[in-house]
Parts: sequence; structure tokens; C-alpha cells
Amino acid sequence: MHIIGLTGGIGSGKSTVSNRLKELGATIVDADLIAREIVEPGEPALAELGEAFDGVIRTDGTLDRAELARQAFASPEATAQLNAITHPRIHDRTTQQFEDARAADVPVLVYDMPLLIENGQTGMVDTVLVVDAPDDLRVQRLVNQRGLDADDARRRIAAQIDRDTRLAVADTVLDNSGDLASLLDQVDAFWAGLPAQT
Ligand code: ATP
Repeated sequence: MHIIGLTGGIGSGKSTVSNRLKELGATIVDADLIAREIVEPGEPALAELGEAFDGVIRTDGTLDRAELARQAFASPEATAQLNAITHPRIHDRTTQQFEDARAADVPVLVYDMPLLIENGQTGMVDTVLVVDAPDDLRVQRLVNQRGLDADDARRRIAAQIDRDTRLAVADTVLDNSGDLASLLDQVDAFWAGLPAQT
């Protein structure tokens, strides 16, 4: 099984690339999705968050993320408490999905993980695939297509590792400074060159 770690800054085009790789036949392990799934109603992590933090579970039983973020990022201790509850569940579910893919003899697995480099997880993958676009262009896309406020988009970009650091770790870079067709062409060429396809 060839494992690709797909990463990039906010608004770089990761979801677009991940969707294309899925169409081409890759199995996707989506880190953001896993982080949401482990706090769905009925999951033990949600009950634990409800005990650790006040008023973070709404009357309909779902997590109030904004309230959780407000409390959990107020102090290092609270952040550590949040991480102690969520990280082991995220780790277990991710590992399970890798194992399931291996057991199913999946040829190409894509680990879609925005924080792959920040979290020191590049060792989990065979190829680090970085989607890259200039900061200003990402801000423009996030504002025009996602309705984000420009200052908010810039703050989020500034909170992540910078482009050069990410590019230095990349095995392959997809340049998303052009149009969507150009990005998809690069994904197709990358796919065609994978060991599993040749
Ligand atoms: P996030 O970090 O927020 O999850 P992402 O890295 O997954 O973002 P996408 O959702 O793929 O990025 O792209 C961000 C936005 O920019 C989307 O609305 C997408 O349709 C648009 N977009 C991506 N690539 C291009 C492109 N080459 N030209 C125009 N728009 C693009």
C-alpha cells in the first residue's frame, strides 16, 4: 500500500485534490472528518467533554464547538484537557482506518491531514504531497468562494507554518496558482506516476 500524506495551508486546494484522488481510485483517510466524528452524539469523547467543560453540549445533544473553543483555548491547562480527551480517540480511529485499508489490500491510501507537518506525522506516509498557492491568492479564494473575512483569512494563514517550511518537506508539490483545470491535470499526472499505477 502506497500512503500519500496530503497537506497544505488553509484554502490551498486540499479538498479539491482529495476529491480528485478519490475519483481516480484512492482510499481517503480524512483527518478533519475523523476529528468531527469522534465528538458526535453517542461518542464517549463527547460525554467526557461535557463533564470537563461547562455548557458545551447543546440541548439537542450536539457539541457547541464555539463554546468549547472559547473555554479550551483560554489556558494551556484547558487545552491540555481538551487534547487528553480527543487526541487518543483521533489516533485510534486514524490507525484503525489505516489498518482496514491495509487489510483490504488498498493500493493507494491518501491521508488528508492539514497539520501533517506541524504534528510531525510525515513519517507515517511514503509521499508528502503539498498543495501550494501564494498567500494572497488563498485569501482571495477564501473571501470570494467561502465568504471568509479577509483579515480572518490572513490571521488563519499567519497561525500556520509558512509556505517555505511546508515546501521544504514536500516530496511533490502541486502548484495551485493557476485555474482548477491546471490543478486537476497535475493531480492526474501525479496519480499516473505513482508506483501502484506503473
Ligand atoms: P481548507 O484548508 O479550508 O480545508 P482546502 O485546502 O481544502 O481548504 P479547497 O476547499 O480545495 O481548499 O479550496 C479552497 C477554495 O478555493 C474552494 O472554494 C475551491 O473551490 C477554491 N479553489 C481551489 N483551487 C482553485 C483554483 N485553482 N481556482 C479557483 N478556485 C479554486
